[in-house]
Formats: sequence, structure tokens, C-alpha cells
Amino acid sequence: MSTNTEQEIILTGIGASPGICIGKAYLVDKEGVEVVQKYSIEEKDLESEINRFKAAVKKATDELHEIIENTPEVFRQHAYILETHMVLLKDKMLYGKTIDSIRNDRVNAEWALKNIVSNIRSIFQNISDPYLRERSADILQVSDRIMRSLTGAQGVNIAEIDKRVVLVAHDLSPADTSQIQIDRVMGFITDRGGSTSHSAIIARTLEIPAIMGLGNATDLIKNDDLIIVDGSAGIVIVRPSEKSLVEYEERKVRFYQHRAVISRDSYLPAETLDGTRLLVMGNIELPEEIVSVIDHGGDGIGLYRTEFQYLSRTDFPGEAELFERYKDVAEVMAPKPVTIRTLDINGDKALGNASTSDEENPALGLRAIRYCLKNPDVFKIQLRAILRAAAYGNVGVMFPMISSCDEILEAKFLLKEAADSLEAQGETYKSDIEVGILIEVPSAVVMAAEMAELVDFFSIGTNDLIQYALAIDRGNRQVAHMYHPLNPAILRMLKHVADVAKDKGLRIAMCGEMAGDPFHVPILLGLGINELSMNPQSIPSIKTMIRSLRIIDTLELTKEALKKATAKEIADLVQEACGTIISNKMLAA
Ligand code: PEP
Ligand code: MG
Repeated sequence: MSTNTEQEIILTGIGASPGICIGKAYLVDKEGVEVVQKYSIEEKDLESEINRFKAAVKKATDELHEIIENTPEVFRQHAYILETHMVLLKDKMLYGKTIDSIRNDRVNAEWALKNIVSNIRSIFQNISDPYLRERSADILQVSDRIMRSLTGAQGVNIAEIDKRVVLVAHDLSPADTSQIQIDRVMGFITDRGGSTSHSAIIARTLEIPAIMGLGNATDLIKNDDLIIVDGSAGIVIVRPSEKSLVEYEERKVRFYQHRAVISRDSYLPAETLDGTRLLVMGNIELPEEIVSVIDHGGDGIGLYRTEFQYLSRTDFPGEAELFERYKDVAEVMAPKPVTIRTLDINGDKALGNASTSDEENPALGLRAIRYCLKNPDVFKIQLRAILRAAAYGNVGVMFPMISSCDEILEAKFLLKEAADSLEAQGETYKSDIEVGILIEVPSAVVMAAEMAELVDFFSIGTNDLIQYALAIDRGNRQVAHMYHPLNPAILRMLKHVADVAKDKGLRIAMCGEMAGDPFHVPILLGLGINELSMNPQSIPSIKTMIRSLRIIDTLELTKEALKKATAKEIADLVQEACGTIISNKMLAA
């Protein structure tokens, strides 16, 4: 590779998928999309203009259909993203309003669409939730697709790229990224987007480096320019110097050697240097994600968030539908454990058919188990489906947001009723399944000893426990800097729950995000938490971390940590004790 005589340029964006690649830029351009002419339509031509728009939507729908049909196996789990785009194509806000605008403003379809999209964008931009805000990118990508069919501009044909390149684009839709052939495309960078965009999710699945939100990369980079992409750091070096090239070639080798070691080892048991075996499991939202848990060496499913099957619909799923999906997961994972969490709706996951929209503070409202106990018919359908699926594998049930012993008793009563009704109907089911609770409300920490008498296991949900204990809304960016899992108050709560579990001989797991960060592992081991569940991609690095530690050292470390008064002091302590192991580990995380 030869370097350019021009000065290198360093660009900084959002690291969307880790890894390093060095290669020639391939600009993916979308001509005809940005420049839109306005012209008036006469009354008599309005219907044909509307029909022209409808035909463009139809063409875009057909294109998406084709892409979905031809989606390679590796992307199957993300096909729902493309399905979402299909729904958006006919969305009232986009489709209906564009037609209204053509008719009422008597303007051409391109102009009407452009204006409607920019209105929708400004609505989305005012939303504080970053995930929802980024969904405006989906709308843009869908409108680009309609616009291309209106203007007849050529779309991106990533599937036809026939050389090894790094894609440089203003934006890439999930449909674009799902056409990437990993033997040709080494990585990609975009002007738009962020780390929770669907294209970023796809890049992580493909394990290729990606950087988003670079702003003006497409203006600064020319076709065939040599570029370095460091997806871990979010840095792009355009036309690099000899020195940068040598440095990044070395870094790249180190990164992939390390990742190879970690992935190779992900099938090994998570056993500490002094012989304690832990279970490292995956959290899933949809049954399709079990593939990822298995691929990353997961020991089971520690948290199956079932509410996603209730989203995007106006009716509740029936028992047969729920049973089929739970059974699939149980069967595929057997004999490994699968913990099915009952419906955790409302709070931050309000459903059309279950929302209590008049709640001023939904996080403290009729959420999760509270909703289920108030709606026993909905709850019992799910419980029956879980008990039936339990006959096909190693299934446990877990109740979310428990705040009192009464709730556990009531939930268990309904579980018993569900079992009795299955028995009476002669259905195949398993009644003696393990019953657990999420410890995620501070009152459950305080009452852990009494609650332990009523259940078989605890799983600590740190995402909510931190929110409720420290009074920090988990979705509010203004207070995100205070959301620290190593806060001493949290540590002391975890210690109490772990001690109770040990005392009562209960299994103790953690399934909040805290469990998926290697930095927290030494403390979690020292507390005696021996089952960790996390997003599947984190499993290999957590297992590696566990294999690098001795329980005896973590006990000592945790004892010291529990004496500290601030999160910073605890983090410093962990850094000092395990810094080298952690920094090696982080390299590939
Ligand atoms: C938690 O609260 O930590 C948890 C695992 O559940 P969720 O993130 O679904 O609320
Ligand atoms: Mg929770």
C-alpha cells in the first residue's frame, strides 16, 4: 500500500462497531436524492401525481421485499428492521400526509415528500430518548428509497461491489448494510447515524468495524483514498502517513489476535484460576437471538424479556402463539437453562393495548408484575404457555419488579391456578419449575431474607435497581453521569442480597447491564454472584475475564471496596488491582 503525499486528515465520529481496517475508500453515492425541485400541479393532474407517488412507494416496497427474501442467513435475526421499513413505507405520517400535501398544496410528489420528512425529523429531534431519536434515521432512509424511485436515480448496489473496500456513505440503511459481503467490504463509515442505529447493530453482528456520525466524511474522502478505520476509538485517518500506517497495522494485528483468542476460548467453561465455575448466559428479547447466545458460548438464557412479543400489535398474543415461541427456545437450549421473565410492560415499554397513558410517572406506576396481578387473565395465559413449554427443556420463571412478599404469593397462586387448569385439561406441562424474582426495587433488597423463603432464585436487575435506589431515571441523559453501578450504596445492596442468598442456599444471578461489563466482574465474583447474564456479544469477554481471576483475590478486593465511600474510589481500587487484565480484555470488547 502506498501512502499519499497529501497531509493525513483525522476524523472523529461515533464508534459503532469495534475493530480496525485499512483499505481503499468506496464512496456510495445517492445522486438525485438531495436536490429536489418544486413545481405546481394543476387540479386536473393531481390524481395522476398521487398515483405517481403511490407507484414509487410500491416500487420501494417491492425492492425491500426482494432484499428481505434474499437476506443472507447471518442477517436473518435483523430482518425485522427491514420489516419495520416496510411498515414505515405505508405509515400514515409519511404516506398519508404526503398524499394530503400533494392534493392540498398542489405540489409535485418529491417536494411534498421532502417537506413531510423534514417535519417528522424535527418532531423526532425533540425526543429526549436517544434510541427513539435515532429512529428518525429510519424514516429518512425510507424516504430516500421512495425518492430514488420517484426521480429514477440509481440506488446503491452494495451487493455488486467486486473488490476489497471500505464503504464511505452519507448514510446507509439497514437494507444497504444487509447486502454487505464480508469478503469484500472491510468496514464502513457514514456521515449520519449513531451507535444504536440499526446499521450499527448489523455491523456488530458482522463483526466489521464501523464509525457513524462523522458529519462530512463524504466531502473529504475521494474514491480510492487510503483510509484507516478504528471502530473501537471512532477514528478515521484519511490518506494516512507512513508512520500512522505502520502503527495501525500493528494495532490491527494485536486486536484480531486478541479477539481470536477470546472467541476461541468462549466455548471453554467460565472457570476461575482457582477452580470456581460460573454460568455466563445471554439475555434475549426475541427467540431468534438464541443463535447469537449459542455462537458466543453462552451457558443458557439468563433473561428472556418476553414483552417484545406483545409490542407492535393491538391484541394480546394467545397461549398457542406464546407456547410455540417459548417451546422453541426451551428445546433449542436444552439441557441448558432458560429463565423466562413474565411480562414487564408499561414503565418505559408501554404497549398500545396495555398502556396506562394517564400515569404521570410510569416507572413508578402499573408496571410489570403490578400490571399482571391487576390483569390475571392476561397473566395466566402467559403462565400456562410457560408451564407447557417447560415440558420441553430446562425452564424457570421469573417475576419482574417485585416489591413485596404479597406480590410473590399472589403470583405463585396464579401460577398454581395455571398449573391446575392445565392438569384438569390433560395438557402436557411441567409444574415443578424453578420460580425466581428480579431484585430490582430497593424494598426487595431490604426484604430479601423473607422473600428467599418463597422462591428458588434471585436475579439482580441492576438497570432498574440503580434507577430506583439512586433516583436516577435510566433514560434521562441529564443524570446519566450519576448512573454508576459501582456506587457504594449499590455495592452494599448487592452484598446484602448475595449474603442472604448464600445463607438460604439460593441461586443468585445478575442480568442487568452491570453483568456484561468486564470491569465489574472482579467485584461481582467477590460478592459471590455466580451466574451472570448479558447481551450475547459480551459473553466471550466476560468469560475471559473470569478465567483470568482468582476468587480468593476478588474476595479481598471486594472487602476493601465495601469500605469505600465513593464510586470513584471503588473504580480506582478495581483499576489498581486488575488494571492489566482489564485493559488487555477491553482491547477486544
Ligand atoms: C434490569 O432492570 O436490570 C433488567 C434486567 O431488566 P430490564 O432492563 O428489562 O428492565
Ligand atoms: Mg428491570
